[in-house]
Order: sequence, then C-alpha cells, then structure tokens
Amino acid sequence: MKSIRDLDIDGKRVLIRVDFNVPYDDQQNITDDTRIRAVLPTIQYVLDHNAILIICSHMARPGGKVVPELSLLPVARRLGRIIKHNVSMAHDCVGPDIKKIVSAMNPCDIILLENLRFHPEEEQDDDAFAKELADLCDVYINDAFAVSHRANASVSAITRYAPVAAAGFLLIKELTYFSKAMSDPHRPLVAIVGGAKVSGKLEALENMINHVDKLIIGGAMANTFLKSLGIDMGNSKVELSLIDTAQNIIKKAKEKKIKLYLPVDTVVADRFDERAEIKVVPMQEIPADWMSLDIGPATSLLYSEALYNAKTIIWNGPMGVFEMDAFSRGTGAMVQSVANSYALTIVGGGDTDVAVHKAGESHRMTYISTGGGAFLTLMEGKMLPAVTALNEAAKNLGGRN
Ligand code: AMP
Repeated sequence: MKSIRDLDIDGKRVLIRVDFNVPYDDQQNITDDTRIRAVLPTIQYVLDHNAILIICSHMARPGGKVVPELSLLPVARRLGRIIKHNVSMAHDCVGPDIKKIVSAMNPCDIILLENLRFHPEEEQDDDAFAKELADLCDVYINDAFAVSHRANASVSAITRYAPVAAAGFLLIKELTYFSKAMSDPHRPLVAIVGGAKVSGKLEALENMINHVDKLIIGGAMANTFLKSLGIDMGNSKVELSLIDTAQNIIKKAKEKKIKLYLPVDTVVADRFDERAEIKVVPMQEIPADWMSLDIGPATSLLYSEALYNAKTIIWNGPMGVFEMDAFSRGTGAMVQSVANSYALTIVGGGDTDVAVHKAGESHRMTYISTGGGAFLTLMEGKMLPAVTALNEAAKNLGGRN
C-alpha cells in the first residue's frame, strides 16, 4: 500500500481525510479527543514538509443537510490547541468560496473543512462532489480508518480524481497491526467476541474460526449459542433464527479443534433496568422470566485462565450490558484479564474501546483500534472498500504517483 512517505509533498497542497467524529456533550464540548490525537503523526509530517494542510472529516449523522450543532468548529479549536498552531475553520467543504480560500493558503497553513456529511453526496459516493474535493489538492491522503469500510465520496470516489493518493500513518498502522495478528500471529491466537447479536458478527465469527486457536464468546450473542445447546435462557435476548447457525459454528470449531468457550454462569435480572433485582446463577438455573445481562464470576475466572497462555488476543464486543454498572463487572474483569495477559492485545469495536477507557486500562493494551465497523470488516476477512480504491488509484496512476 502506498504511504504518505512515498510521495513528494514538499510545499504541496495536501488534503487529508480524517475521522474527527469525536463525541460532543450537549454544549458542543468535546468529551474525548482520542480520534484527533490519533492522526497527529500525519498532520505533523505534513507540516514538517512545509506543505499546505487541508483537513476534511465527517461528524455524526446530519443526514445530508446543515445541522449547526454538528459543525466541526470545536474540533478546529481543539486541534489548534493541541498542536499549538492556528487552524482555520471553513464554512463549507466544497464550492467556489472554499476553492478561493484554499488557493490563497501558504505553506504550513491549516484549514479544517466543514462537516462532509452536510452534503448528501458524501454518503452517495458522488463523483462530482468527490472531484470538487479532489480539485482542492495536489496530494490526497486517507487517514480515516474508521470510515474506510464505507464507499463514501471522500474516501472512495475521490481516489479517481486526486492527482496522487496514498495512506496516512494511522490507516497504515491499523491495517498492519490487524493483518500481522491474523496472518502470522504468535500462537495461541485468541479471539474474544461479545456484544449484542450473533447476526451482526456472524461473518466475523465464521472467518475468525479459520484463524484462531481459541474462541471466547460473551455478551448477548452467547445466549443464542447456549440456547442451541439446549439451555433454557429464560427471558434473555436470543436470536431464534440463528440457532442452527450457532450449532454449525460449534460443530466447525470442534472439527477444527478450536477451543470454544461459552459462559458457565451469569448475572440475571428480573427486568432490563439498572435497579432491577439481580442474582448470579449457574447457566442451567436461569429463572423463567429473568434475563442474562452479564457473564458471572465463574465465567470471568474461566476466561481469565483461558487467556493465560495467549500470545495474541483480538477482542471485539462487551461481555454484558456494561453501560449499566450492575452488569459491567464481566466486561471489567475481561479488561483486566486482557491487560494482565502476556499477549499482543488488539482491541476494536466502539463499545469495547469505551469499556477499556472506562476501566482506565487503555495504556495496557497493545493497540486500540479507532474503528468499529471497519475493524469488524477486517475480522470478517474482507478488504475495506476505501483501501481497495486507494490501491486501484496507485495502480492506475502508476508513474504519476
Ligand atoms: P455490539 O455493538 O454488537 O458490540 O453490542 C454492544 C452492546 O451489546 C452493548 O450496548 C451492550 O449493552 C449489549 N449487550 C452485551 N451483552 C448483553 C446482554 N447479555 N443482553 C443484552 N445486551 C447486551
């Protein structure tokens, strides 16, 4: 994959697509700037080469129209403070005014274009919109891993119009960590998969089973697997239409001699509520009308033992409804087990990274992915459309690149 390092960017107009989709509180204060800090190496590299820096990003889901609360202005301010450099904010991302403003920029000037998703064309992968963006630059850099699983104009169509295109340091780092862990891992390689549904992660489970030595399942998705083994799950969330699929995965794991771990006890509640009555029971003793909302302490111990000899761990999805304190212990224990392991640990998926942050253990993970959907797409064994587009552009532009 072509990297920003392979290009001559000295003094050039460099357009970087990043993911500055940071969380705001109701006063538009940024509550977590991890995504801004994640692309600083690329931004710094461009500045070190005396280039003109044009940054573009989306913010949340404005649905193709201008929503003032979803302006990127707070991000421009925060970025400016972090890098101690003036960052101008553009009132739009395309149009004749923006073209004029960008043409008047000098080396080391930085401008942040307004939310790309204020234009419906962004999510439609629209060629004319992509061309307008591309016309702003001499060099296009994709450093937005978290949106690279989407065919959006600013990561996909744009590669056909930009004079040259390459990947930024964050995109390369994300892809390298993941592909090394999958293609040439230190074994045992363990995948921990949790979260709400089997359906959302079915392809990931089916792909991971071809690579891992152990598969640990938690969260509501474990319910469907347990039900498929004949366990009465009471009122728990179960995907009845996927019972056969779960059985097939268990069968395949057996054939491939993969060690598959399922919860042996659970935290059950009489309703889906933080203040519900709760108790810890063996899996076989879930009362009718109660629901399983977290893994129990015996399961946490079992999973921690299973992780003890792991050399590589890939984790996606919480072990329970960790947003509610009463059901967060299983996920918290898993954070500790992964952090305490001697393995290379890769954590991905929006919720998992929140759980690790919440436990204050981010620094003890080898790598926390900035992408949810994109990370899952990699777990499914698929190429990211934006990465394919970048590679195509590099091939087609050949000598020009
Ligand atoms: P996902 O986006 O698939 O990783 O799912 C994350 C969501 O799964 C979180 O919001 C959790 O609250 C939810 N979840 C995890 N375990 C359970 C469970 N046992 N029952 C209901 N929801 C769960």
